[in-house]
Amino acid sequence: MKHRIITLALLGTLVAVSPVTFGQGRGHRGGSRSTSAAIISSAPVGTSTAIDFATLWEEEKLARDVYVQLAASTNLPVFSNIAQSENRHMMAVSQLVAASGINPSTLQDVPGVFANATYQQLYQSLVTTGKAGLVDALLVGAKIEEMDIADLQRMISGSSDAGVRQVLNHLLQASGNHLRAFTSQLSMAGVDYSPQILSAATYQQIINANGSQGHGDNGAHGNSGGPGTRQQRGGRQAAGGSGNGKGRGGR
Ligand code: ZN
Ligand code: ZN
Repeated sequence: MKHRIITLALLGTLVAVSPVTFGQGRGHRGGSRSTSAAIISSAPVGTSTAIDFATLWEEEKLARDVYVQLAASTNLPVFSNIAQSENRHMMAVSQLVAASGINPSTLQDVPGVFANATYQQLYQSLVTTGKAGLVDALLVGAKIEEMDIADLQRMISGSSDAGVRQVLNHLLQASGNHLRAFTSQLSMAGVDYSPQILSAATYQQIINANGSQGHGDNGAHGNSGGPGTRQQRGGRQAAGGSGNGKGRGGR
């Protein structure tokens, strides 16, 4: 395990930007987050700031917890598939947390509960919005992925640690896959998604990218069973993309 601490001026931007991009305007972390203070104080001499991996972990958790709720309300496999992917992302980030000198056991994995007050608010509003309907749920998914992509791009561009960049790039790749999965389902539902956080150019680049770059972590197989195909098989969540409704085009 590496014990290199990443010197970045990103602490704060991660938390500050995400909520702001959601238009909540309250900025910053609302509540005092003792973990991030611990990250700062545990940084070795010579490093001033570090990526707030604990907050990144909660951002992945936000995605997972919202998707678990929306998997239940929509019965769409895309949500359960991607929730599993987000759970893997949380595990990957918890290793970065450990490598930065924080005991990962300080990360509290209680579904729907967040140390970061802004994420707590986002969780509640996104779940409420997403439960309004199928399209609403998919729009919430796309928005979350846009937020993740924006934050990850910011962190990667400021990171000089090869190991950290590798992990973050993997998360970024997966988020692109997730975004494409949601927007393709929206497209099948007749909705032409336009980006709400990313620039039009960045968004187009991601949409046009080929998502099949390995990792097996894309959730895109959730494309089977589009929004129009009811997945009412006794409440099965179709985890892993069982192929229900394959080829139906979601109409
Ligand atoms: Zn993720
Ligand atoms: Zn994602």
